[in-house]
Amino acid sequence: MGEFKTILVTGGSGLVGRAIRTVVEAENRTDEKWVFVNSKDADLCDLSATRELFGKHKPSHVVHLAAMVGGLFHNMSHNLDFLRNNLHMNDNVLQVSHETGVKKVVSCLSTCIFPDKTSYPIDETMIHNGPPHASNFGYSYAKRMIDVMNRAYHEQHGCLFTSVVPCNVFGPHDNYNLESSHVIPGLIRKLHDVIAGEGTTFTVLGTGKPLRQFIYSLDLARLFLWVLRDYNEVEPIILSVDEEAEVSIRQVAEELARAFDFKGEIAFDTTKADGQYKKTASNAKLRKYLPDFQFTPFSVAIKESVDWYRENSANARN
Ligand code: NAP
Ligand code: GDP
Repeated sequence: MGEFKTILVTGGSGLVGRAIRTVVEAENRTDEKWVFVNSKDADLCDLSATRELFGKHKPSHVVHLAAMVGGLFHNMSHNLDFLRNNLHMNDNVLQVSHETGVKKVVSCLSTCIFPDKTSYPIDETMIHNGPPHASNFGYSYAKRMIDVMNRAYHEQHGCLFTSVVPCNVFGPHDNYNLESSHVIPGLIRKLHDVIAGEGTTFTVLGTGKPLRQFIYSLDLARLFLWVLRDYNEVEPIILSVDEEAEVSIRQVAEELARAFDFKGEIAFDTTKADGQYKKTASNAKLRKYLPDFQFTPFSVAIKESVDWYRENSANARN
């Protein structure tokens, strides 16, 4: 155990924030005070509200998760909002962290901000190598600027502001809104509704062929804690399952059908977009640091996520 830390988690009510909360509450450490905040505590697009929030909690460390986040379809229709909201939030959080002497900030990028035309697997050195996929360029450029700012704060002021790059995340407390959700929570919601309505067809958007790496939010939370406590590079680090764990959207739908014990038909609406075909990322850097880290098997994590939604659908973010 090191010196006492007060850790402010922005975006503390979201999918990743709730998972970190679950893990730190189970640890119950006495040398860390965790404060989880959301947009009701402060609109981080507003600089003075951000200053007030930091003045109130006086964090020594910040886990910056707050962001406008959404799946493929929400990104396609709101690129400007994704760009502006995320640029404002990130600039405010990093600037106020600097002003108030925060010792370390860990922010969140994503494997979906990498160049569209790239060689595979993608690694941490390739973030700025070319334009992102057109479907989410607003989110991508805003996220890429976090890495640019981290380097600039380090160069000019010596700050330890770093970032992690998760692949597609899923788990309890996700966003299940069909307009804005990522694929797994969207399909959980859809299948739940099909079964409730005694339907026999589960319709997946697109061809089902795109490939994705998915990380369980509770695994990501354990990795986040390691980054906060022990990773001291400014350069980003990819937090993803292994390359061999990549699955197609069709396999995701089949795993969900198993978890729900759904015996009906799985159909594909090929009039809907597929987005980027794949974004295969290498976790070699992570594996160098943590060769023995065990990810929860996909089928187990899917089952737990489905069971959570079945129990909590009435109060979930639908
Ligand atoms: P989420 O479930 O959508 O939660 C977003 C969080 O940000 C919520 O706590 C929300 O607060 C907060 N927030 C949004 N706008 C805000 C504002 N203007 N001021 C203050 N707080 C605001 O997101 P998530 O999936 O947990 O994502 C967490 C981080 O991981 C994000 O930086 C995201 O880019 C990154 N990431 C996510 C994925 C993924 O698949 N989900 C993949 C890679 C990276 P309210 O609850 O009050 O709205
Ligand atoms: P991405 O990984 O950043 O592209 O974002 P998503 O989590 O939204 O995954 C998008 C992929 O899942 C695309 O290939 C979509 O065609 C496919 N998909 C299938 N059904 C759905 C759905 O109901 N919602 C979403 N968001 N994507 C879906």
